[in-house]
Amino acid sequence: GEDHRLPRIASAIRVIPDFPKPGIMFQDITTLLLDPKAFRDTIDMFVERYRDQEITIIAGVEARGFIFGPPIALAIGAKFVPMRKPKKLPGEVISEEYSLEYGTDRMEMHVGAVQPGDRALVIDDLIATGGTLSAAIRLLERVGAEVVECACVIELPELKGRERLGGTPLFVLVKAA
Ligand code: AMP
Repeated sequence: GEDHRLPRIASAIRVIPDFPKPGIMFQDITTLLLDPKAFRDTIDMFVERYRDQEITIIAGVEARGFIFGPPIALAIGAKFVPMRKPKKLPGEVISEEYSLEYGTDRMEMHVGAVQPGDRALVIDDLIATGGTLSAAIRLLERVGAEVVECACVIELPELKGRERLGGTPLFVLVKAA
């Protein structure tokens, strides 16, 4: 059966229609952060899944992967690596482009943060089309890491983003319409 913690997590996520533009149902995780029990349960559910998988890297996608990634990394004893928007990281970077609804964006990662043989988990708050997570997977695989799984709090299954992740599995807590 379903984990008893999931209903509280799901109801702590606020949905704001027509943000940032008409037609988008924005899944707002800031209200989940205001419920310490639900926030802790969210982190615990990821930690329980990943603590015995010899994950060495938690790769968090800017910006909301920076909220969920670090507590998981600390709990399982993994490194935290930020995957950032262009021109934010000060050291040498590698980058990958990915498509948005209009145009493209780029994701950057520090060279040297991830080594061949690292076992990585990619984390973000939400998967929509999967473009963002697929760019993170490409960056990690370019430097020889094994991407064990991607994890999100929320999936929008209708957008079929899961199918854009190649062979990489996806774990989510909540599916939203
Ligand atoms: P995608 O690359 O299409 O999978 O989009 C995922 C990224 O966009 C994540 O970083 C999300 O935070 C953000 N995002 C996309 N759609 C939504 C939505 N409906 N509500 C909140 N965030 C979203």
